[in-house]
This record gives sequence, C-alpha cells and structure tokens, in this order.
Amino acid sequence: MKALVFDGPGAVRLKDYPKPKISDDEVLIRTQFAAVCGTDAHMLSGSFPARNGIVMGHEASGVVEAVGRRVTHVTPGQHVVGSPIVICGNCLACRSGRYNVCQNRQHLGIEADGVFAEYFKLPGYSVFASPPGLTPEEGALVEPAAVGYHAVCRAAPTPSDTVVVMGSGPIGLFILESVVAFGCQKIIVSGHRQRRLDMAKQLGAHRVVRPPDEDLEAVVMEETNGSGADIVIEAVGRPDTIAESVRLVRSAGKIMMVGIPAGPVSFDFIHLVRREVDLLTSDASLYAYERIHELVAKKILDVRPLITHTFPFEQAIEAIETSKAQDAVKVLISFD
Ligand SMILES: [Zn+2]
Ligand SMILES: [Zn+2]
Repeated sequence: MKALVFDGPGAVRLKDYPKPKISDDEVLIRTQFAAVCGTDAHMLSGSFPARNGIVMGHEASGVVEAVGRRVTHVTPGQHVVGSPIVICGNCLACRSGRYNVCQNRQHLGIEADGVFAEYFKLPGYSVFASPPGLTPEEGALVEPAAVGYHAVCRAAPTPSDTVVVMGSGPIGLFILESVVAFGCQKIIVSGHRQRRLDMAKQLGAHRVVRPPDEDLEAVVMEETNGSGADIVIEAVGRPDTIAESVRLVRSAGKIMMVGIPAGPVSFDFIHLVRREVDLLTSDASLYAYERIHELVAKKILDVRPLITHTFPFEQAIEAIETSKAQDAVKVLISFD
C-alpha cells in the first residue's frame, strides 16, 4: 500500500509500505478521509519530536476491511472513526478510568503507525461505528472535536459562566463549539487570524478579540464588571498567553490548559493561590467518541465550517504545508 512515512524532519515521503497485519483484537480500516493536525506540520518542520520510520497522521475515518477473531462490535463494510490511542489497560491511569493519559500510551502518527495510508489498524476498543448522518468527511474531524469537547467537559461550564477561549486554531474553535453546546451565552475568543475570528463569531462567540489591536484583559474586565472570567481555556500554549490567562480569571474561577508549550513557562503563581483558582489540564480525549459522535452527526458540534481545503492523498505533503496557510483551518486528505 501507499503511505506517508516520517523518516525525520524534512524526510517525509509517500512510498510503498507493508499493509498492516491485524491480531485477534484489532481492526483493519480502509482510509476514506484523514485530516491534517498542527502536530503533523510541526513534525514536518522538526518542532515536534516523533518516532522515525512511522506512518504519519492520526485523524481519520474509513470502512472496516477486516476484524480480528475477538472483535464483535464492528463488521467489515461498516463506516467507522478511529481514536488514535493505543493503551495498556493495566496502569493506574487506565484502571482508574483515565485511559487517555495511560502511562504506556502510544499515539498513532507520533509513536505508532498512523492513518496517512491506504489502510491503518487499531485495537477494537479504539474503533467506533459511525452513527447515521455522520459523513466520512465529518468522521475525520471527530478526533480533534473530541479533544476540544473533553477539555470543556473537564472545565464543566454552566450556562451563566463567562468563558474566555484563548486561541482560534482548530482546537480553540472546537472548544468554542463545545462551550456553546453547554449553553454558555458569554464566550470571548481571542486569536490572531481574522478569518478564524470571523468563523468564531459565526460559531457563537459573543465577542472576538484580536491582540494587539485590542487588549484582551481590558475586554474581559469590561464584560465581567471588573471581576474576570469564570473560566479561561488556554488553547495557544505560548508562555505569554499562559501568563495572561492568570490575569483573566476571576477569584475562585478555573483555568483549563490545553495548549502545549515548547518548554517551561513562568507565571504569577501567587496570584492563583491567593484567589483559589483551579488550574486544570486536559490531554487527548476520554470517553468522548461515544458521546460526541452523535453531536457531530446532528451538527450540534458542526465540524463542516472548519473544513477549508481538501487534497487527494497523492498531494498529502502539500496538504500538510497548506495547513500552515493564513486562510486554512482544517485540511482534509481524500483517499477515494
Ligand atoms: Zn490532532
Ligand atoms: Zn495504561
């Protein structure tokens, strides 16, 4: 089969690769659509470490080609979405139901063979049958939507909360859609790219802010009568935005960290402690597919507006490069 293989930064090629062989507990999937993530672009440029020699990509939908002997919940020919996590099932995180942070976790497209290939395989527990109404294009975006949804579930907003979403990248926009689905009325989104901020407005943001044209802290204080936001969700991962999140949250409020900084960051810790701010983090997604499948299919979490480009698989490298363009949000790769 053809696959996009990562042999180190600057050494990514579409080439022949062995078709995956499945064990009794695994599912072989024929890829229909895959989506490009920021991680893929960072791997290409060398700013995100990954294992050499693996197939890239972790967001995909497809059709079941074959199932192992012990897999009973999906059958060949069925449309499915894959969760890109392989877990051990034995560590304390797994056993306490927090398998998304399994100590022995392997992430597809980073540590194990991914989905930018004609076929990919997953353990049965990571394969979910698509509900009626979920198109293969939408199915490819269930993974990043699940990441946003999981972060919002952990932050647990209530409809009366003022929520600040820092960052208008794909994850920031999926977070926004999830916060809207939770019924929040006052959502402030900050970001740099105007197209994404316009999109945020359409998706339900009460106000969008583009620093440095506008001062986010001033806007948040104006919108909250000087007290600060109930919840700040940081989906940028830069040291300055992380430090800023501390100044935006109200006393006894919550900060949810989703953005991943490249290294250690410093912020005003005392300002957090003296105001009993809950500092939360979120990574990947937990028990999200079962729940958001339906929400995506019913367009309550509408992933369609975020699709800005589609490339055929032969142009997979161009698709990854394009994901960095100003006007791009989510770039799909089509295998049909
Ligand atoms: Zn991703
Ligand atoms: Zn584990």
